[in-house]
Amino acid sequence: MRITIIGAGFSGSTLATLLASPRDDAPEVCLVGTPATFGSGVAYGEARQEHLLNVRARHLGMDPEHTGDFADWLSLGERGRDGFMPRIAYGDYLRDRLKTAVEQSSNLTCIDQEVIAVERTLGGFRVYLADGGQFFSDRVVLAPGALPPQRLAGVGPRLARSERYIGWPWQEDAIDRIPPDARVLLVGTGLTMADVVVSLRRRRHQGGIVAISRRGLLPRSHLPQPSEVVALPPRVLYALRAGDLHALLAALRSLATAVVDWRALVDALRPHTQAFWRGLSPVQRARFARHLRTHWETFRHRLAPQVATELEALLVSGQLQVRAARLLRAGVVEDGIEVLLRGRGQAQAQVERFDFMVRATGLDTDIERTTHPLVTHLREAGQIRADPLGFGIEVDEDFSVIDNAGRAVSGLYCLGPLLRGHLWEITAIPELRDAAGLLAQRLMARERSAPGGAASTPRWPLAAQFENTR
Ligand SMILES: Cc1cc2nc3c(=O)[nH]c(=O)nc-3n(C[C@H](O)[C@H](O)[C@H](O)COP(=O)(O)OP(=O)(O)OC[C@H]3O[C@@H](n4cnc5c(N)ncnc54)[C@H](O)[C@@H]3O)c2cc1C
Repeated sequence: MRITIIGAGFSGSTLATLLASPRDDAPEVCLVGTPATFGSGVAYGEARQEHLLNVRARHLGMDPEHTGDFADWLSLGERGRDGFMPRIAYGDYLRDRLKTAVEQSSNLTCIDQEVIAVERTLGGFRVYLADGGQFFSDRVVLAPGALPPQRLAGVGPRLARSERYIGWPWQEDAIDRIPPDARVLLVGTGLTMADVVVSLRRRRHQGGIVAISRRGLLPRSHLPQPSEVVALPPRVLYALRAGDLHALLAALRSLATAVVDWRALVDALRPHTQAFWRGLSPVQRARFARHLRTHWETFRHRLAPQVATELEALLVSGQLQVRAARLLRAGVVEDGIEVLLRGRGQAQAQVERFDFMVRATGLDTDIERTTHPLVTHLREAGQIRADPLGFGIEVDEDFSVIDNAGRAVSGLYCLGPLLRGHLWEITAIPELRDAAGLLAQRLMARERSAPGGAASTPRWPLAAQFENTR
C-alpha cells in the first residue's frame, strides 16, 4: 500500500509525520513537494524575521495529541508559551519534526519535485513528476495549499508584468524592491497587509502607505495574555445546533456586552464553526459569505499584539491610511501607477498616483480561475470540481474529492485550505492539524480493512534531501 501526499507544507508534512511508522508492515508514505518550501510551506518557509505567528505558541504543536510540542521544542517557559513567535521559527520546527519522522520511521520517503498530473488507473493512480518521473500510488492526498495569486481585477496586463506590481508579497526580495520614499497602495486590509506594512516599517519606509478594502476593516488584536475561557450558554448552543444564523447573531450581540473580553466568546465558538457551516444550506452559506464573512474574519483571525501596536503607530502618525474603497482600474503611466478608486458610498471615482501596488487580498482558493498546473489538470480531467461557492474543492465527509459527475473518487483526498467550501474554518494551524489527524485515522482504518492490508509494492529509494531544502 502506498499513500502519496502532494504538497509538503504544514498540511502535507503533518499528515506524513502522523502516518510515519517504524513498523515493517506500515503503508508506504511518499511526501512530494516543491523544493523551495519543502517541509514548511509558504507561510512559514517564505516568512521574514518580523512576521509573527498569530496563534500563541502553546497551541501550535504539529501533533493533535501533543499541542504543546512547538512550545516544548522552543523550551519556552510558562509566560513564553502565551507569546507570538516568528513564523520563520515555526518553519524550522516543522522541518525538524519531519526530519525526525523520516529518520525514525521505515515507511516515509520525501521527494522534492512538483507533481504535474495525477491519473486514475486500475486500482489506484499514476503520479507524474515535473522531471519526467512517474509512479503508481494506491491513494493520493492533494495538499497543495492555497493557489497562486490571480491578478487583481482592474489591473492591466502591462502593470501586472511590471516591477511596480507585487502580486506575491512573500516572494524573496519583493518588498525590498520598494524604495523608502515610494508611495505604496496595498489592496487588502487584512493579515497580509499587516505583514507588508511591518516589513516596510523594518526597512524604515518613509513614503505614504494607503491600504484599501471594500469595508476598510482592520483585523482585531489579541491581548498580550489570554482571557479567561468562557462557556457558551444554552441559547448559543441551541442556535448553533439548529443552524439558525439569526438567532446566533442575536445571542452573540447580547452576550458580547456581558463577557469581560469578546475574544473569549469568539474562541469558544471556534470548535463549533465547522459543524455549523456544514449544517447551513447553500443559500445561507452564500449569504454569510456576502454579508458576514469580512466581519467574522476581522474578529476571528487576529493580529499578534506587537503587530497591532506597530500598525497603530503608523496610523496615528498618518503614514498609513486605511480606506473603504474599491479598485476600479490600475495601469502603468510614465513615472508610476495610476489608479481609479471609488470610496465606499461615493458616486464619483477618483484618480490617484502611486509608485508601487501590492496585492494583499489573502488566500486564493478558486480552482476555476487558477493557473496551478496540477489543479488545472485535475479539474479539466473532471477528477475534481469546485464547491458551489468557489471556495475550494468539493469533497465528501471523508475528504474524498468529488468528480464532475458528482461521485466520490475512491482513494483521492484533499487536505488544507482547499477544504474551505466544506469546512469553512480551515486556514489556521489548529483546524488544519485536526483535519490532518482525522484523515490519518481514516487512511489507517481503510488500510487495516483492505484485503491483504500491508505493503506489497517495492520500497522507494530514500530521496529525502533536507540539506537542499530551506
Ligand atoms: C503568509 C501566511 C501566514 C500565515 N500565518 C498563520 C499563522 O500565524 N497562524 C495560523 O494558524 N495560520 C497561519 N496561516 C494559515 C495556514 O497556517 C497556512 O495557510 C498553512 O500553512 C497551510 O498549509 P498547507 O500545507 O495546506 O499549504 P502550504 O503551506 O501553502 O503548503 C503547500 C505546499 O505544497 C506545495 N505544492 C503545491 N502544489 C504542488 C504540486 N503540484 N506538487 C508538489 N508540491 C506542491 C507548495 O509549494 C507548498 O510548499 C498563514 C498563511 C499564510 C499564507
